[in-house]
Amino acid sequence: MDGLLSPTELVNRAVANAVDVLAITDHDTVSGLAEAHKAIQEQQLPLTLINGVEISTNWKNNDIHIVGLQIEPSHPELLAFLARQEALRIERAIAISDKLAKLGIEEVYQHAQQYAKGDIVSRAHFARYLVDAGIVKDISKAFKQYLAKGKKAYVAPGWHSISEAISIIHDAGGLAVLAHPARYDLTNTKLKKLLSEFKQAGGDAIEVSQSRQSADEFYMLAKQAIEYGFLASRGSDFHAIEGYLDLGRTMPLSENVTPIWHNW
Ligand code: AMP
Ligand code: MN
Repeated sequence: MDGLLSPTELVNRAVANAVDVLAITDHDTVSGLAEAHKAIQEQQLPLTLINGVEISTNWKNNDIHIVGLQIEPSHPELLAFLARQEALRIERAIAISDKLAKLGIEEVYQHAQQYAKGDIVSRAHFARYLVDAGIVKDISKAFKQYLAKGKKAYVAPGWHSISEAISIIHDAGGLAVLAHPARYDLTNTKLKKLLSEFKQAGGDAIEVSQSRQSADEFYMLAKQAIEYGFLASRGSDFHAIEGYLDLGRTMPLSENVTPIWHNW
């Protein structure tokens, strides 16, 4: 889980926000899904939960996120794949922590692990610790000064490729979605290259509606979905109550795209 709320808190918040279908897509793990299903069942919540995961991949030295929706969470090959991602994460987290230590910020890995509560450690956990320790003012500064690509404590991750991620998602019965395509700081030419390679590798959908996006970007992505023949997806990227757009608050998809949930 890389969000701040527990799976039980998350599904309750979704219902309170009038969300009726929610996908949980943690980074490189499916470990939160069981608790979320249990909470829905026990409390008889009016919520359909979609099993998901957000896989980190490497494409020409860019961190590209591929979301898998409707995956089978106990699929053995998917679990083996995610275990390899986790090992890569731990290696990178230790390297980030070593860089921060050289800058005089000690034992950040240990603190980040506490935030991760025994689960996968992401840069979001590092960022939260840097904020709480008073080293930076907010999450965005933590990335701008230390954790983002090229910054003082950046370590290039060794993620799997996009086509490996798509294959494993398909093997596990899911659909592969290119997450937040406009948030990778790519030129238009590069973005088009990414979209066409994602298509060629069997990608099913792109995230058209998401938080932190302008109306122009929303329409541009809808247009690309149509042009490349992708289904369209909508994601909140909700990690915590503070600093994130709340569940169910992103722009609804426009009528000219086919939602990924059209036949669910
Ligand atoms: P990782 O998978 O460990 O590389 O960490 C990715 C996490 O960092 C995701 O939760 C992102 O939402 C978050 N993240 C990446 N860049 C930023 C940023 N500039 N501001 C806030 N969060 C970010
Ligand atoms: Mn993402």
